[in-house]
Amino acid sequence: MEVMETVLDSEHRAIYHGALRLAREKLTGCVAQMERENRFPPEIWQHLADAGFLGVGVEESLGGTGGDYLAAALIAQAVTRVSPATALSMGAHVNLCMHNILRNGSPFLQAQYLPQLASGTMIGGMALTEPDAGSDAMSIRTRAEPDGADYILTGTKTFITNGPIADLLVVYAVTDPALGTRGLSAFVVETHWDGFHASQSFDKLGMRGSPTGELVFDHLRVPRDHLLGPLNGGAGVIMSGLDLERAYYAATAVGIMEEMLEQSLRYAQQRKQFGQPIAQFEMIGEKLADMSTQLDAARLFTYHTLAQAQKGERVSRMAASALLFAAEAANRATTQALQIHGGYGYTKDFPVERFFRDAKLLDIGAGTNEIRRLIIARELFKNR
Ligand SMILES: Cc1cc2nc3c(=O)[nH]c(=O)nc-3n(C[C@H](O)[C@H](O)[C@H](O)COP(=O)(O)OP(=O)(O)OC[C@H]3O[C@@H](n4cnc5c(N)ncnc54)[C@H](O)[C@@H]3O)c2cc1C
Repeated sequence: MEVMETVLDSEHRAIYHGALRLAREKLTGCVAQMERENRFPPEIWQHLADAGFLGVGVEESLGGTGGDYLAAALIAQAVTRVSPATALSMGAHVNLCMHNILRNGSPFLQAQYLPQLASGTMIGGMALTEPDAGSDAMSIRTRAEPDGADYILTGTKTFITNGPIADLLVVYAVTDPALGTRGLSAFVVETHWDGFHASQSFDKLGMRGSPTGELVFDHLRVPRDHLLGPLNGGAGVIMSGLDLERAYYAATAVGIMEEMLEQSLRYAQQRKQFGQPIAQFEMIGEKLADMSTQLDAARLFTYHTLAQAQKGERVSRMAASALLFAAEAANRATTQALQIHGGYGYTKDFPVERFFRDAKLLDIGAGTNEIRRLIIARELFKNR
């Protein structure tokens, strides 16, 4: 029996299969335009909202559609199989913005924003990275200075998923420079407020259609009640958010691997050389066997990490390991899938070319593979 069928309960299996059906039906037709125009089509957002995908993980009393972290990740996994770029934008909205407000927001912030995010009326994102603060995220320089009942936000963020189209952002800034990493705070910011500017979407190698932009906060006034989590507690909000981001993001790597295996199996049975389907060749079978083995391992690791996170366990090492493994395996899978497709795989006539480009982001986003290894090594030495 398949790993998916044995490790997931019937409710989660139904969520996954329903999401896959919907993604294939509603998103497939939009993918070519997203690639060509590098633009996120609004109708996709509407389909995701109508399906309840944008409110997953938030209880109904707060305007959401219920479910847990695993449910949210399984939806991302299914959507990835059709459009990794759509899953990336959905993840920034659901995982980086909405779930962050759910975990850390005051009752006021939750009531104000969760219903609008869950219904898709507002598009969310999260702004941590700056031009000079990527891997070294704790060295951000965006400043939030108190001014009466408000904070004044000044600084530049870059590489922000959904930045050019977002209505609401979780933004990290320095509130007390004298305290170093203990002087950071998180804020919830509406992008129509004066002092916000967003660039056009970057022209990227992959994940085309998922808008990524540079954001400028030019003396933007944020009310004090828009502080997310405790004042000067931003480092904790960042770190716990990154753990969950990694676990969620590993599910998108699983989605890429599933799709690559499925397309490679189909192609290997259809394509004939030397008078027989290439599936008959042992070196093709070897690639498929490796892809399948690593896919199952990535699934088990990812679902286990999400289940632990749901219980409130600290999953720093596990999430970094799960994503490190899944990201590297997904990149191997796209390389193998392209090889199985031969010259045709190198053309835009087959989706493997797009998945090959999209998968590369998995090595970089949510902390690079190098940073994940640093975290794992650091955690191994803890308490020794
Ligand atoms: C498409 C896309 C979407 C993104 N979305 C978001 C978003 O929504 N919100 C957000 O805040 N950010 C986002 N990011 C930013 C992303 O998190 C950063 O790109 C990532 O953390 C790496 O930072 P950097 O690009 O500045 O690389 P750098 O930190 O400059 O790293 C360059 C290289 O040096 C290596 N390196 C750095 N430090 C070390 C070290 N100590 N030891 C060994 N090697 C090291 C890195 O691993 C990497 O290989 C996004 C990025 C992309 C490309």
